[in-house]
Amino acid sequence: MPSAVAYCRYIPMTELAQRLDLVRTRIARAAERARRDPAGILLLAVTKVFPASAIQEAYDLGLREFGENYVQEFETKSPAVASLSGARFHLIGHLQSNKSAKASELFDVVQTVDTAKLARRLDSAGKPLDVMLEVKLSEEEAKSGASPAELPALIDAVRACRNLRLLGLMTMPPWSDDPEAPRPYFRRLRELGEIHGLSGLSMGMSNDLETAIEEGSTCVRIGTALFGKRRKP
Ligand SMILES: *Cc1c(COP(=O)(O)O)cnc(C)c1O
Repeated sequence: MPSAVAYCRYIPMTELAQRLDLVRTRIARAAERARRDPAGILLLAVTKVFPASAIQEAYDLGLREFGENYVQEFETKSPAVASLSGARFHLIGHLQSNKSAKASELFDVVQTVDTAKLARRLDSAGKPLDVMLEVKLSEEEAKSGASPAELPALIDAVRACRNLRLLGLMTMPPWSDDPEAPRPYFRRLRELGEIHGLSGLSMGMSNDLETAIEEGSTCVRIGTALFGKRRKP
């Protein structure tokens, strides 16, 4: 006898979908606490070390902004994802000026401009490009970024580049597993943005996005909380 029961097919949410839900909830709660509109906070999905299929999966779940750290790595993934309509790719890792033409070709946004020379190289590639200035706010060795004192000249140099549109500032504080530790750095970046009339602030990662949003972040760069732990590059 055929059963009259209509069975609902159980479709488990993928792990990425669940993590995305969680990240969106964290962003929304932090925005609410800070009395900010969550629509003003861009979720940048950091896909470094993960294959192009991770970008595709995130795209299928509605994500449109992706962050990559290495020009060469993204060059290999780019053919699989370059035609995703509306997707934008941000370079968030250090860029050497000899790779600037390739970077300009592959990316829509370069968040790590830190010298006038690099800005001029990106400009001379001839493609309109959104840029942010990476600011170094700690004395850590081997960290790229312009110092706050170098910012005025760098901003002038970028504004003189006809193909570059300056969106704001980006920073990466010293790593800490304490989400409160980066607060002074985030606060300082916001002050620098105010001083220089730049509204975009790219700051905050998986473990400190709440702190960053409380301090005014307009772009949180999230890898681990979406895609899981990375193998060492
Ligand atoms: C890897 C990386 C991130 C993402 O860090 P998670 O802690 O995995 O969220 C963000 N920003 C930059 C510059 C990175 O290199």
